[in-house]
Amino acid sequence: MTRVTIWNEYRHERENEAVAEIYPEGIHAAIAEGLGEYGFETRTATLDEPEHGLPESVLDETDVLTWWGHRAHDEVSDEVVERVRERVLDGMGLLVLHSGHYSKIFKRLMGTTCALKWREAGERERVWVVEPGHPIAEGLDERFEVSEAEMYGERFDVPAPETLVFASWFEGGEVFRSGCCYTRGSGRIFYFRPGHETYPIYYQEEIRQVLANAVEWAAPTDGPEPAFGNGEPIEALE
Ligand code: ZN
Repeated sequence: MTRVTIWNEYRHERENEAVAEIYPEGIHAAIAEGLGEYGFETRTATLDEPEHGLPESVLDETDVLTWWGHRAHDEVSDEVVERVRERVLDGMGLLVLHSGHYSKIFKRLMGTTCALKWREAGERERVWVVEPGHPIAEGLDERFEVSEAEMYGERFDVPAPETLVFASWFEGGEVFRSGCCYTRGSGRIFYFRPGHETYPIYYQEEIRQVLANAVEWAAPTDGPEPAFGNGEPIEALE
């Protein structure tokens, strides 16, 4: 069974009543509930726990890590970021959610600023499936809507995704690459845009479906260990 660790900064929910009303036990609890419905084994980890809840022992038991952060990206220790990065290169899946675009781990893995345009005005977002045969789009219609969303607009300064699964349109007219697939080393990374803290987006059926599909897609496979360095010839050399 795929084991998922759901990481959350968990500050907005404890310090802002409006957010706490929507996510009384934290965004991580809502995401865990959704993934639990799909049969995944879930655990959660938050910024203010020792080692941000991500000691080696937890990562040892993690197939896919999901990451939600916003206002305290800088408080995530470089040591933990490096630990997570190494795990991703070794094959652990990583789902980077919404404002996680500015997290240290995502910026480090992408190598770009990961900056974007944004506006908080409760706009309608129409998410289009642009790669219908992709496993992350399984079970969805050709489009779905988020009734109230924070706008994220292009340009999104990331490397061109290896596969773009979703593209979003916003009421104000902007567009955004909202579902981006990458591989780094043996690990798979999926960036998924929807999910602002003041909207109940992580309870929405389609969003939960996407997250479950993405966990399935990003889970490590049992491929060969890569061999690096000086190599003996396979065939006899003349
Ligand atoms: Zn946001």
